[in-house]
Amino acid sequence: MLSYQHGYHAGNPADIHKHFTLWAVTRRLQQKPAAIHFFDTHAGRGWYDLHGPQAQKNGEFREGVERLLSHRDALEHSPIAELWQSFFGVLDAAHGHPVAAETLQFYPGSPAWVSALRREQDRHTVFELHPTELSELNAVGETRTGRVIYGDGLKGVVQQLPPQTPRLVILIDPAYENKEEYGAVAETVAKALKRCRHAVILVWYPLLPARRHEAMLADMQQGSIPCLRSEFVYKPEGAVRGMYGSGMLIFNPPWQLDSQLRQAFLPVQDLYSLADGKAPQNALHHVDWLVSDT
Ligand code: SAM
Repeated sequence: MLSYQHGYHAGNPADIHKHFTLWAVTRRLQQKPAAIHFFDTHAGRGWYDLHGPQAQKNGEFREGVERLLSHRDALEHSPIAELWQSFFGVLDAAHGHPVAAETLQFYPGSPAWVSALRREQDRHTVFELHPTELSELNAVGETRTGRVIYGDGLKGVVQQLPPQTPRLVILIDPAYENKEEYGAVAETVAKALKRCRHAVILVWYPLLPARRHEAMLADMQQGSIPCLRSEFVYKPEGAVRGMYGSGMLIFNPPWQLDSQLRQAFLPVQDLYSLADGKAPQNALHHVDWLVSDT
């Protein structure tokens, strides 16, 4: 039975890490006109009201999108300014006006981030299995979600490959509610790359004290397709029981994504290292090659 609902976590630091990486990859790929089919295996509800009861329960967004917005000016003048400006532009559009930490209310889910960039020639398919999340997602509307399919995204995406478009991006973002999911993700990536060697695949994973992601990464390391790893540690490991950070794998990453992510997260890392009371210490962003591109 599915119990996870992303509304409790929307806009947290892990979401920022995931959505900014997705944003950076998509922007890079769209520098060329060839059509892209975007797949999102675990869509969630697509759109989040941060004033609603789920987001308010633990207020995780305060350490994520709200903190970022309170340093918006610094990020928009950082070395990778244009990318941050366009990222914040999506939040502005979500509110219908330039948004600040004090006026923040809405946060887009992964289907909406991609929809903000989807071009006429691109295709977009998202999967969701939780009945409540599915009906919310359908209510958001196809313009902001892409085509919604009710079903298992891991099996579903493989069945859809290869797409008709020359290029494809797959986001795999499960809740990892049970440890079998790590193996299922590794298996799905292997199957997808077997069908489409050129697929750009993004996999999100949590950094938890049990370090369950390590076996998944060791498995994926056996492959031959270049894979970049970006990890963002935003709480001191050992000081918390739950998640202390998040990871993103990017198979077949666009050229220079590694240096772009390093530059983009340098000022973010500083925000999380500030000794300002509630801020977690020792935040660290790290990029390396899980599977080398040479
Ligand atoms: N990708 C979303 C985002 O970034 O906004 C968040 C997704 S959330 C972490 C995971 C979602 O996957 C939940 O809504 C859950 O109901 C759904 N889910 C769980 N198992 C699934 C499966 N096998 N196929 C499709 N969706 C699934």
